[in-house]
Amino acid sequence: MKQKDIAALLDEPACEHNKKEKSGCAKTKPGATAGGCAFDGAQIALLPIVDVAHIVHGSIACAGSAWDNRGTRSTGPELFKLGMTTDLTEQDVIMGRGEKRLFHGIKQAIEGYRPAAVLVYNTCVPALIGDDIGAVCKAATERWGTPVIAVDAAGFYGTKNLGNRIAGETMVKQVCGTREPDPVPAGIERDGFKVHDINLIGEYNIAGELWHVLPLLDELGLRVLCTLSGDARFREVQTMHRADVNMMVCSKAMINVARQLKDAYGMPWFEGSFYGVADMSRALRDFARRIDDPALTERTEALIAREEARLTTALAPWRERLQSKRALLYTGGVKSWSVVSALQDLGITVVATGTKKSTEDDKARIRALMGEDAPMIEDGNPRSLLDLYKRYDADVMIAGGRNMYTALKARIPFLDINQEREFGYAGYAGMLELARQICVTVESPIWGAVRSAPPWALPAAAAAEATPAPVGAPSPARSAEHDGTEREVANHA
Ligand code: SF4
Repeated sequence: MKQKDIAALLDEPACEHNKKEKSGCAKTKPGATAGGCAFDGAQIALLPIVDVAHIVHGSIACAGSAWDNRGTRSTGPELFKLGMTTDLTEQDVIMGRGEKRLFHGIKQAIEGYRPAAVLVYNTCVPALIGDDIGAVCKAATERWGTPVIAVDAAGFYGTKNLGNRIAGETMVKQVCGTREPDPVPAGIERDGFKVHDINLIGEYNIAGELWHVLPLLDELGLRVLCTLSGDARFREVQTMHRADVNMMVCSKAMINVARQLKDAYGMPWFEGSFYGVADMSRALRDFARRIDDPALTERTEALIAREEARLTTALAPWRERLQSKRALLYTGGVKSWSVVSALQDLGITVVATGTKKSTEDDKARIRALMGEDAPMIEDGNPRSLLDLYKRYDADVMIAGGRNMYTALKARIPFLDINQEREFGYAGYAGMLELARQICVTVESPIWGAVRSAPPWALPAAAAAEATPAPVGAPSPARSAEHDGTEREVANHA
């Protein structure tokens, strides 16, 4: 990829970061941890396309360290879960065999698995030695007639976010528009019921949570042409150019896709979220408003009224249990406002939230939900998270998987909210699951057990009597809990 193309991707006009004095996404500073590399970002963005062979062209470590690290799920093909790599060695580099190995790798993937397409991810080593993966992919497409697409996002090009954008741009430029959508099956459309096509961009179907939302979209007559990229098929990505409206699902990672589709095909787009009752209903209303079909608007309002009433009844016992609870939220930033809204819907007080990757717009939304003085966490190191947990007297830390051991070592309740989670929280049904998971996390008897002195440290009589708190009982008195936490926080320091 040329330097000027990378600069253009960093200078995305639709991105909020660009509205500041210093335009463009910040370059990483040497020594600063910045998450994954550009290759990692590109692979994460496209790996959920389920019927494609994903080949990592490079040394084994690139594929090995990043493969399938999201809990994305498929309704059918599982080909995307098969790790494929050209496994370049020193000898291949010295002998200049990189391109040849790639060509053979593509052949093996096509002949062995008959994929709908092949995506080839570039990495540092072949990019440095000058392998022309674009030319190899072109030759392979001509040879076997299966689309073979080069995703040129070698790690050293930049950050994970840049990789997301390269992946999105590759799909827009090389895949979208290469096929027309299937016609709507006969008998579906009728008087007052027209089917409208939509795309969901940046939706990864983590833990299958999209399946909480799809039945509702179906009922409204909103046909999802493609989700980029959760549970997507290659043939769906090809038809993205025909949607009536695009939704950026709660993430700015592929904002360039929404903007480029608007520029190229005039497709309107909006940013929304499926987390929380308020945001879920807002997303459905946003579709109706942009499509501007009175019958759809009517259906949408009826569906929202029905689902909200049903959920209010189902959530009542959970809300009672969660009413006085306080949560420290650290999602890494992008989805904070959305999760804040979902937690508030459950009656939980969010004492502070992470904003490291948030835009000014995200922060404004957080302030609107939590008040002007909302504590925002810019520095999510373990020490500060534990300090904040203690200072704000929280009951649970809700954060990404990498914070799990910080919480568990400090013996405080922890719920994973990021991509490795095992439960889907999107949609109205997801809210119920979220309430259940927070309850079982906070009320688990394990916290009483791990914070009390071990039997061997107690006098014999007391040890015989010491038993963990029963399941479902409230955790020990807040002051006692925090004594334990404080001890652990002090040890952690
Ligand atoms: S930085 Fe380069 S070598 Fe490391 S994982 Fe990313 S692509 Fe591979």
